[in-house]
Amino acid sequence: MSETWVEQIQNEVNTLEKLEQYINITDEERKAIRTMRTKWGTTPYFASLMDKDDPNCPIRRQVLPSLQEQVNEYGMDHYLMWKENRETEEVRPDSIARQYHDRIAFTVTEVCGIYCRHCFRKELVVDQELKLRFDVDEGLAWIAEHPEIRDVLITGGDPLLLSDEKLEYLITKLREMPHIEMIRIGTRLPIVLPQRITEGLKKAIGGFHKVPVWINTQCNHPKEITGDTERAIYELMSCGINVGNQAVLLKGINDDVPTFKELHQKLLRTRIRPYYVFYCEPAPGIDHFRTPVEKGAELIRDALRGHTTGLAQPMYVLATNIGKIPLMPDYYIVDKDEKEYTLRNYKGATTKIPNMPE
Ligand SMILES: *Cc1c(COP(=O)(O)O)cnc(C)c1O
Ligand code: SF4
Repeated sequence: MSETWVEQIQNEVNTLEKLEQYINITDEERKAIRTMRTKWGTTPYFASLMDKDDPNCPIRRQVLPSLQEQVNEYGMDHYLMWKENRETEEVRPDSIARQYHDRIAFTVTEVCGIYCRHCFRKELVVDQELKLRFDVDEGLAWIAEHPEIRDVLITGGDPLLLSDEKLEYLITKLREMPHIEMIRIGTRLPIVLPQRITEGLKKAIGGFHKVPVWINTQCNHPKEITGDTERAIYELMSCGINVGNQAVLLKGINDDVPTFKELHQKLLRTRIRPYYVFYCEPAPGIDHFRTPVEKGAELIRDALRGHTTGLAQPMYVLATNIGKIPLMPDYYIVDKDEKEYTLRNYKGATTKIPNMPE
C-alpha cells in the first residue's frame, strides 16, 4: 500500500465496479448499493481489510449499505437536532454543539474516510438530509467570545481530512486563546487511513506546547488494527499526542465476550487507551446495529473488569442531549449496613470492609 493519503482519498472505493476488486459482492449488498440514496465509501486501505466472501465480516458491515437501513422502528426522528441541542435558547453557529459548561464539540467538516453505517450523525453525514453550515472562522469567533470554554473537541465528519495548512491554522488559532487549555480531535483516520499520519501532520498539530492535543479514534473490532495502525499511533505519540479509543457497541460485530476482550487488549498492544464504549445511539435507520442498553455493562462485567488489564477498561456510556450517562455494571456492592459493606468481585467472590460513618 504505497499510495499517499491524498491518493487514497482520490481513489475512494464508492462504486460497485471498484468494490468488485476487493470482494465478491452479494445480491443483497448489490441491491442496497443500487437502490438506496445514501452516501457510502471507504478508503482502498480499509477496503483491503474486508473478507472477500463473508458478508458478515465486521468491516464489510460497517462500510457497505444494507437494506436494513430502511427499517426504522426504534430510531428517533430528527435525532441529531435533539442530540446536539440545536434548538435551545443559546444562539450558536451550526458548527458548535454544546452539552456542558466548560467544553464543546466543534464540527469542522462533514466528509469522512469511511461512511460508517452505524453513524449517529447519519442524517447529516451519510444520508445528507440535514443541511448545516460548518464555517471554521465563525466557530472560532464564537469560542473566542466564550471564556468559560477550556476544552474544544474538534469533530466532523473527520477533521483530519482537512489539509495540514488548515489544521495548523485551526490549532494555532485555538492555542492563541488564553482560555483554551486543551484540544481534542475525534477522528477515525488512524484506523481507516493510517497513511494520513505524516510528518507534515505531526508538525501541524503536534509538538511541545502548553495546550496539548489529544486524539480519540474509533475502532470497533480487532480486525481493524494492522501493522500500519501500530506505526501511525506510534508516530502520533512521538510528537506528544495521546491516542484514546471510542468504540461503538455493535450487534453482531463486537457484542460477544471474546471479540470485546480481544478488541480492548489489542488496542493496548497498539498503544491506544480505551476511553469510551458508546451505546449505539437511537438515530434513524440503525436499529439492526443496536443491542439492549444493558449489553455493554454485561460485556464489561464478563469480558474486561478483573478478566484483563485495568488499562483496557473503557467507560460504557450512553450519549444523550443532556450529556453522556455512564452505564457501568453495578454488581460490586452486594449489601451495606451500619457496620459494613459487602463487596463482590468479577468471579462472584465476596468480601467485607467496615462502613465509615460521616
Ligand atoms: C461527547 C461530547 C463532549 C465531550 O465529553 P467528554 O465526556 O468530556 O469526553 C463534549 N461536548 C459534546 C457536545 C459532546 O457530545
Ligand atoms: S467517521 Fe465518524 S462521523 Fe464519519 S461516518 Fe464514521 S462515525 Fe460518522
